[in-house]
Amino acid sequence: MVNNIDTVNENIIWECLYDVEDPELPISIVDLGIVNQVAIVRDETVNNGSKVFVDITPTFTGCPAWKEIEKRVIENVSLIENVTEVQVRLNYSTEWTLEKISLKGKAKLNEFGVAMSKIWRGKEIVRCPRCKATNVSRENEFGPTLCKMIYYCNDCREPFEALKSLL
Ligand SMILES: [Zn+2]
Repeated sequence: MVNNIDTVNENIIWECLYDVEDPELPISIVDLGIVNQVAIVRDETVNNGSKVFVDITPTFTGCPAWKEIEKRVIENVSLIENVTEVQVRLNYSTEWTLEKISLKGKAKLNEFGVAMSKIWRGKEIVRCPRCKATNVSRENEFGPTLCKMIYYCNDCREPFEALKSLL
């Protein structure tokens, strides 16, 4: 049976995007929640060809990871059969927040020692990813990148990184 309507399956593209890891966080860009949508448009110039557009909302303005994400997405999605062109489009119509990270992504970040900062009743709450204590101090506002802050756990006496909440 020949399916001559869709030459590229959207699920395959999502699976492929799932293999793209964020350059700054050890999780997939899909778990990170930055991929908004995928569009497939037939490429009339090539038999069975399709162009793929991937819309991405960057995590934090000023994060230098953007170019690397674009490169990785193009490299990966271009490997799919019948994909003739891949374009990554910046999408600012929605805002990325920590809440967009999937539960799986949050658990994985925690395993890697990265905490989430949360604003709760107007107060910032950060839990140590190792011992879960909230008895922590902020060491450095900027951390290794603009997206991360360095904290120090007063209970287990280890430093850790936390992602900044913009809410
Ligand atoms: Zn701790």
